[in-house]
Amino acid sequence: MKNKLVLISDFDGTISKKDFFHMVIGKLFHGKQNMLKPWEDYLSGKIKHIDALSGIFSQINLSQEDLDKFISTIEIDKYFYDTAQFCFNNKIPFYICSAGTNYYIKKRIPEELKKYNIVLISNDAEYSPATGMKLIAPSEDSYYYNENTGISKQAIVKKFKDDGFITIYAGDGKPDLKAARIADIVFAKDLLLDLCKKENIKTEHFDTFNDILNFLKGQI
Ligand SMILES: [Mg+2]
Repeated sequence: MKNKLVLISDFDGTISKKDFFHMVIGKLFHGKQNMLKPWEDYLSGKIKHIDALSGIFSQINLSQEDLDKFISTIEIDKYFYDTAQFCFNNKIPFYICSAGTNYYIKKRIPEELKKYNIVLISNDAEYSPATGMKLIAPSEDSYYYNENTGISKQAIVKKFKDDGFITIYAGDGKPDLKAARIADIVFAKDLLLDLCKKENIKTEHFDTFNDILNFLKGQI
């Protein structure tokens, strides 16, 4: 009998090469420290993760056209496309879960989301050059709602586990750790890899989505 597989992936730094958050700070704010205050407030426990991101992104004041251009420069792992195609062809559900916002993900990979039937679970956002970008958490009665980050990646993994799936999780950062703890197979890089090593969470080799694609091919 075929295994029931699901691929659940983070977006920033996992499907994309660089976090949108870091792109904004580096390329739009040029690393100016005072613009990072919301993030410092988050790190010191004063405000929630989602409010910190809103605090940072609210300082973006590009025209809509320039923002769209900026979003189009988000670099995507080139093997993501083949992986999405493979999942689609083999009826493996593909979920992208992001504690950022679906605003830039939908604008960056709109065709792929549709074509490969990828489910995107993230915070909404609204944007105007006058007020910047404001994140909007999902409804509190969503099974994946989390007060701090807006969405709970762990809840998405848990739902599929409860439904009898073998869960494959890919991520790169701290917000991925709780999901990685309970996923059946973990592809981790960067900070998530370090955190997994510390907790003795077994991980697969992961440089690019090609590693995930090869793993999936071996399961079919
Ligand atoms: Mg990430």
